[in-house]
Parts: sequence; structure tokens; C-alpha cells
Amino acid sequence: MIKLHDLHFKPFISEEEIEAAVKRMAESIASDLKDEVPVFVGILNGSFMFVSDFVKAYPKPCEVTFIKLASYEGVKSTEDIQRLIGLTQDLTGRTVVILEDIIDSGKTLAEVYRIFKSEKVKDLYIATLFYKPEAYKKDFKLHYIGIEIPDKFIVGYGLDYNGLGRDLSSVYQLKQTQYMTNIVLFGPPGAGKGTQANFLKEKYNLVHISTGDVFRFNIKNETALGMLAKSYMDKGELVPDQVTIDMLNAEVEKNAGANGFIFDGFPRTNAQADALDQLMDSKDSQINAMIALEVDDEVLVKRLLQRGKTSGRPDDADETIIRNRIQEYYNKTAILKDYYSAQNKYFGVDGVGSIEEITERLSQVIDNL
Ligand code: AMP
Repeated sequence: MIKLHDLHFKPFISEEEIEAAVKRMAESIASDLKDEVPVFVGILNGSFMFVSDFVKAYPKPCEVTFIKLASYEGVKSTEDIQRLIGLTQDLTGRTVVILEDIIDSGKTLAEVYRIFKSEKVKDLYIATLFYKPEAYKKDFKLHYIGIEIPDKFIVGYGLDYNGLGRDLSSVYQLKQTQYMTNIVLFGPPGAGKGTQANFLKEKYNLVHISTGDVFRFNIKNETALGMLAKSYMDKGELVPDQVTIDMLNAEVEKNAGANGFIFDGFPRTNAQADALDQLMDSKDSQINAMIALEVDDEVLVKRLLQRGKTSGRPDDADETIIRNRIQEYYNKTAILKDYYSAQNKYFGVDGVGSIEEITERLSQVIDNL
């Protein structure tokens, strides 16, 4: 990780990946232009490193020149009033390839087209090393693209943050979320995860996501997701991984500014645990702990049957379904203890006692993280 001014950036695109993309672009342009000797026009400042590497990789004769973005002096405006300057060479009848380091909104590109409208070039092509499809707002065709990237702020390889970072030989991405506490509350059905999550979310200001609750909400509202989930839940079986993972991702995205999350009922399989790690990684965060509530099976069955008298949940009302849910836990979910133990993140807590006693035991683990 690196720090430029006040912001942190994490490694994003390596030197090797950049080199391969530059080479690919150079070869593909050379092959398309055949015997034509093109004029490559770099847009300063950002493209200096790309243009330098690009022309070295270009396998045929070529010319190189630069133009620059500059503000009109003395014009006061909050609008972006930058203009391209520095085009002194006569390009009449020439094949011109614009070399851009990055195209996001396409504003600079609009300027390029404005300037070249009055030049009598033979052909004008646009080549960009990085391209943000989500941010691009124009219709100009981009003839050559090196690497497509998400709409996130990057520095390095010519690109800067307030003047710094242009000299870096690889590309870094802005690190967004700083610190989150993310906890997986674990245990078989009836262990008390939901009850405890309600206390812990207040105490630690975390967002509680219960996949079971989200499914039940969808069933109540008769959504397509709800109808699909119901067929599994009614039998006490797990809903398929991809359905559950997509839903969980969407729930996390809805709470982008959260201090952290308590995951209750998720992950329940190895595939879900992998997906959760990837999701946390994409938020520059991680799961800090899996805290498991340990309770005997017979106590669980008794608790769930008792809860079924008031919860209105069909899967709490029938002892066969309850036992199937517990069996699903042992068959598919219990192995996650190993997954988190391997990362030294597993903490077992006795789940039998008063609600307050158990909250206290869980808090002790969280406070020590
Ligand atoms: P719960 O409220 O956590 O006891 O979940 C009730 C039911 O919802 C489970 O028996 C499953 O059918 C379904 N479910 C909840 N979370 C998941 C998950 N992470 N993966 C698959 N199915 C789930």
C-alpha cells in the first residue's frame, strides 16, 4: 500500500500486465496500419510513460508528438474550461493515432475531435491504455483499448493524484473503506444468533444481515426470489449458493457506509465463505472473526419447537424439518469452523445461559479483536 497526500492506494495493475497490454496494442495497430507511417499523438501529462513504452514496442517506423491540456488564462468559471494546445505539426494527409493514458468521461476526447476537425488528416484513430466503460459518456469510437477498469480512481504509470504518483511504474487504486468490523455469527439453527445479533448491532453500531430474514421478507412480499427460496426453506434445505450469494452482495451494497456487519446465517457453505472473502476484499476489508454459539442438538430442537409456537415460521413448527435443518448444518455448514480456524479467526462461545450472559461472552471476544 502507498500513501499520496492524504489518501491510501493499493496495488491494482502490475508492471507486467501493463507491459503486455502495451505490446498487444502496438502489435495490433501496426498490423492494421500496414505500410503507413503513423503520427502518434500523446496527450500530456498523463500519457508520457505510456507513449514512451508504446513507441518502443511499436515494430515499425513511426513519428511521435505531444499535445497538452491547458486552461485558458483569465477565464473565471467553475466549468472545466481546459483546451488542448501544442499542435504545431502539419498533419495533412497523415494517419494519426491519439494515445491516451486513460479515457473516463470522454471530455478530453471531445476536445481532441474539436481540434482535429479542422486538420485534414487522412485517418484519425483513438487508442487508450485504460478505459472506464462505466464512466464513458460520449459516442466517439475507441479504436484500441488496452485494459478496461472499473470506475475507481487510479494513480501511477503517468497518472497522478494532485501531482504525485506519475512516476510509479505500476498502477494503484484508491483504497476506499478504511476500517470495518465484520463478524460472522455462527452456530446451528436455534443457537440464538438472531437474538444476540440484535444486541450486538446496537452495542457496536454494526449492520445486521440475516439471510434467513431477507428470504422471509421476500416470501412475504411474494417476490421471485422469495418463491424460489420458499421451496427449499419449507423442507429445511439450503437455498442454492449463487442465489444466496447474489442476495447477500446486494444487501451489503445497500449499506455502503456501514461501520461493519454482523452476518447471521451466512456463510453456510465453503462457496459462500469464499464469496464473502471476495466481497470483503473488494471493500478493502475482511472478516475479523467467526464467533460460534455452541449448543447441544437436543436443546436446539426444544428451543425451536418452543419458538415455533409464536414465530409463525413453518420450518420451526415441525420436528422433522427442524432435525433436517440441523442435519444440513452438520453436513454443509459445520466445516466452516475449519475455514475460519485456518485463518485464526474462529472463536467458540458457550451458547447456553441467559441472554445477557451470552451477550457478555460474545462482547468479550469482540472487544479483544
Ligand atoms: P435461518 O433463518 O438462518 O434459520 O434460515 C432459514 C432458512 O433460510 C434456511 O433453512 C435455509 O433454507 C435458508 N437460508 C438462510 N440462509 C442461508 C444461506 N446462507 N444459504 C442457504 N440457505 C439459507
